[in-house]
Amino acid sequence: IFTIIFLTSCQQKQTDTTPSTRQYEASINELVAKMTLEEKIGQTSLRGTSSRVKGELPQALKDAVREGKIGAFLNVMNTDYVTELQKIAVEESPNGIPLIFARDIIHGFKTIFPIPLGMAASWDAEVTKSSSRIAAIEASSVGIRWTFAPMLDIARDGRWGRIAESPGEDPYLASVLGKAYVEGFQGDSLSDPTSMAACIKHFIGYGAAIGGRDYNTAEIPESLLRNVYLPPFETAINAGAATLMTSFNELNGIPASGNEFLLKQVLRDELKFDGFVVSDWNSVTEMITHGYAKDEKHAAELAANSGMDMEMTSQSYENHLKELIEEGKVSEAQLDMYVKDILRIKFRLNLFKNPYISTDNNVDFYSDSHLEEAKIAAIKSTVLLKNNQILPLNKTTKIALIGPLADAPHEQLGTWTFDGDKTQTKTPLKTFIKNNINVNYALGTAYSRDKSTKGFTEAVSKAKASDVIVFIGGEEAILSGEAHSRATIDLPGAQEQLIKELAKTGKPIILVIMAGRPITITNIIDDVDAVLMAWHPGTMGGPALHDIIFGDTEPKGRLPITWPKTAGQYPLFYNHKNTGRPANNSTFVHLDSIPIGAWQSSLGNASHYLDAGFTPHFPFGYGLGYTTFSYENIQISKDTIGLNEALQVKVLLTNTGDRDGNEIVQLYVQDIVGSITRPIKELKGFKAVHLKKGAQQEVTFTISPEDLKFVNHKLENKVEPGDFNVFIGPNSAQGLKTSFLITTKN
Ligand code: BGC
Repeated sequence: IFTIIFLTSCQQKQTDTTPSTRQYEASINELVAKMTLEEKIGQTSLRGTSSRVKGELPQALKDAVREGKIGAFLNVMNTDYVTELQKIAVEESPNGIPLIFARDIIHGFKTIFPIPLGMAASWDAEVTKSSSRIAAIEASSVGIRWTFAPMLDIARDGRWGRIAESPGEDPYLASVLGKAYVEGFQGDSLSDPTSMAACIKHFIGYGAAIGGRDYNTAEIPESLLRNVYLPPFETAINAGAATLMTSFNELNGIPASGNEFLLKQVLRDELKFDGFVVSDWNSVTEMITHGYAKDEKHAAELAANSGMDMEMTSQSYENHLKELIEEGKVSEAQLDMYVKDILRIKFRLNLFKNPYISTDNNVDFYSDSHLEEAKIAAIKSTVLLKNNQILPLNKTTKIALIGPLADAPHEQLGTWTFDGDKTQTKTPLKTFIKNNINVNYALGTAYSRDKSTKGFTEAVSKAKASDVIVFIGGEEAILSGEAHSRATIDLPGAQEQLIKELAKTGKPIILVIMAGRPITITNIIDDVDAVLMAWHPGTMGGPALHDIIFGDTEPKGRLPITWPKTAGQYPLFYNHKNTGRPANNSTFVHLDSIPIGAWQSSLGNASHYLDAGFTPHFPFGYGLGYTTFSYENIQISKDTIGLNEALQVKVLLTNTGDRDGNEIVQLYVQDIVGSITRPIKELKGFKAVHLKKGAQQEVTFTISPEDLKFVNHKLENKVEPGDFNVFIGPNSAQGLKTSFLITTKN
């Protein structure tokens, strides 16, 4: 079982950080001793270029590098610029310190993988790791040795546009995947020329933006922060994450970019983070607009005294740090520590010895093996939400392929794909045609937001001439991602209306959704026979969907988020608390059934909405395959254990369908009574199992004390004695249950 290591742990880092970090200390100290104050401040400066402009780089920028006033660049689009700037830094700047070039390589560089929320639906550390390894191999070949990923913000609100980039709502799943991303990006060692330093972001609470409105304030009590938001960061730090980005938001009144408690106490003292911290884009000077810093100089002072090593794009350090040090408001010793943190990563990336783009790093973008891995990832991330026995289809079925995302090469890639070449995208339409599927294609609506019904007639007539309708709709890429939150999260434009028209033909409809968030489908769920959630699946979305729809494989994903009936249910997550009114004692009566003039409802029970009930549309962990599984005979190795003991729990899993298939067996635990109330259940393990039809297998999990610890109201991280429930099943809402007791003995 994967173990989340909590705050009290003093574990050694697993990568090359510890021994080889020390080997650089003498060189780092020697270098810092030679640097002027201006050069030291220069190392803390991360700047953009006017990179989209072709031609000569601005002279002022080259001069700044020559004088040692810039430590790193982001988003340099042109490889010649990378080489030119690095040459100036190495050969002409006072101490020849190399630059680091950074970029947002979020879900692939050229070969685009599913968006991170889609990758999270794979529940698969291996495929996540290979996706980020491939991204690093491709991006490092043009000189990018630092990526601003993975984003590890827990997201419980699908209105938030950046949920697309998140690992979903669960700290355990996010921890497993965060570690895999870091290991993939960084490779076996940062010194490998195909590695990129990972940047875990955004520290912290960005996903808790009130109302899902991007950049909004976050209010998170400390125990919740430590139990839910922090574990993915802690796990990624233990996996050796080289850098960390602060978040735009304020947390409980203090902006994250000037938050000494977060950046010094939690990050350095408790989590023992040994890389460097970078601000988000202008987030240091945004502290002025937050109402926390009075001007740019004050913002620099607050950030510098709270643990910010490097400033992204705004230049408050460059403009004010010297003066602040001379005035004694920031100590030079503090600045020296920042410079050392940054130099350490430059040494670990081997940039002093090997600053230029490696000539043997001749990478074939979109190589067969990269594309194959992207296809596997898309298959593993696709979630089957409904299937009235219609899927898989026979390859000779006459298909009406309808919808704005059936042949949308750019939209299919999703958010943060600046480098993905859309001419390489394999769309469903092109793939179906290539595979000789009998396809009748019509857009229906020109793009996802299109409100026009002009295309309906053609779509309906093509549907009538076919056996089955495959409708591929959802959201264009631009409707999710940064600053792209939505208040409603249904199928935009005229898509629902079109589906209703198509349903009138009486032909079965398979709805395939490509989107950066869960999409509410309550209005149309009865009009369609199957629903596949493909997220934005990336370059190989078409071949993956072809193989799924025609049964060469099955959809293998499970929801990494709770799927609501309506956005009005947000925030919504499976690992919530009970209220004093247990849901299982209440009968739901819809508001339409309450008699007019009623003066008292008989239902004042459990927490719910009169028009949406108690439950989501689909629970966290949900997803179907093409076969069925039964869970039987849950057994626990001991029903009573001491505080420091582990136990095993197992079930018998049977493939009861008529195909071989895959199941993701999920383990949840509930700590029934706590010194602070505990969630109704929490994911503590999962296993992917492949079983031939009719086959059986025992699936065993170990539950260790680490899995049962939580941070209580006194902020102690420990196991509390008492009764626990254990659930093993196919998702967070179904499964077998057993229980055990922890006594006060050790
Ligand atoms: C985003 C970061 C990103 C940075 C650099 C910011 O707007 O919040 O996640 O890494 O830009 O592109």
